[in-house]
Amino acid sequence: MPISEFALIQRFFTQQAVTSSSTRLGIGDDCALLSLPDGYELAVTTDTMVENVHFFVGTDPEKLGHKLLAVNLSDLASMGAKPLSVTLALTLPKVDEKWLTAFAKGFLGLAERYSVDLIGGDTTSGPLTLTVQAMGLVPKGKALLRSSALPGDFIYLTGSLGEAGLGLKHIRGYHCANPQASYNRFHKPDPQIEAGLALIGIANACIDVSDGLAGDLSHILEQSNVGACLYWDALPLSDAVLAYINDTGDWSMPLTAGDDYELCFTVSPEKADLLTINCTKIGIIEATPGLRLRKSGTVQPFNSKGYEHFS
Ligand code: ADP
Ligand code: MG
Repeated sequence: MPISEFALIQRFFTQQAVTSSSTRLGIGDDCALLSLPDGYELAVTTDTMVENVHFFVGTDPEKLGHKLLAVNLSDLASMGAKPLSVTLALTLPKVDEKWLTAFAKGFLGLAERYSVDLIGGDTTSGPLTLTVQAMGLVPKGKALLRSSALPGDFIYLTGSLGEAGLGLKHIRGYHCANPQASYNRFHKPDPQIEAGLALIGIANACIDVSDGLAGDLSHILEQSNVGACLYWDALPLSDAVLAYINDTGDWSMPLTAGDDYELCFTVSPEKADLLTINCTKIGIIEATPGLRLRKSGTVQPFNSKGYEHFS
């Protein structure tokens, strides 16, 4: 006998313990209830992953559960928000208990790591589609926005670039010598929560790099009415990514490939000494609109849009 919708939620998605002090009521009623501490704002974000669009048919469900939550927590990180709770809307073609067990393990495993409560959701049947809404706390008026970069700001990046892009190339048939690291980066991104929290009061603008650095940084530039110059020589690239570039000549991959989930942020020079997190200075914000790249001694416009649906 197939498991009922409510039994499914109970069995796979009802966490043993409520961990966040803001959760007044979790799964089970028509709504969850959150109570917010004074002096904070609620940061809210949603991301959907659709089979065949965001992930391949047959993707390991545990990795999928991790990534679905990670991409949402990454959005909270980019605002400097502390994750609080999430809702999960699942559209499933059928009830596959093995699949659900693995998916819940990946999802709730990461949730536990950041003390995030799963407080509700919806479960329907249809083509495999996974949606999370994530909520986090940010001190009132202190969220890191895309719209507040200033000319003269230094541009920084956490972690390295292009590793997840290389993982995707590997899945699509490109042979790299040691694919495990890039494969993991593609499938199991780490949301940069601690970095985001540490940037409150220091960074002027911030974005998470989900669709490629060039495209995502361009969102900061457009919303802040500024431009930027990136320094090719300063980009943090792993040996594997450098080997890929050497091999293929595809040097722009690290600037355009998605799924890095690092934070790109800007800091005024006076505050640069206050940075405590691991990051690399990769460029500078300028008054002239547009994105430029300094490479081999010349500065050229760099035009690249990130991945866009419907285009
Ligand atoms: P309603 O019909 O009132 O929307 P549901 O039967 O859809 O209620 O859901 C019952 C409870 O289970 C609600 O608290 C809802 O938030 C929760 N829920 C439903 N699906 C999920 C899910 N996939 N993950 C977590 N909670 C869920
Ligand atoms: Mg419902």
